[in-house]
Amino acid sequence: MKCEARTRAGGACQAPAAPNGRCKLHGGRSTGPLTEEGRARISSAQRLRWRLWRERNTQRARLAS
Ligand SMILES: [Zn+2]
Repeated sequence: MKCEARTRAGGACQAPAAPNGRCKLHGGRSTGPLTEEGRARISSAQRLRWRLWRERNTQRARLAS
């Protein structure tokens, strides 16, 4: 069984998959957050990462124009 994740090139990841259909690079070993508290923690951490990323990128775009 092969991993079902899509690569940035558009093809499917060809790595052998873990029982949940994803390879070890694409979350195959992870069960994901199991509790509501865990989900909320991940969600807030991801929002922070996204905000920092967006600030960096809008800054770069402004400098380029
Ligand atoms: Zn994969």
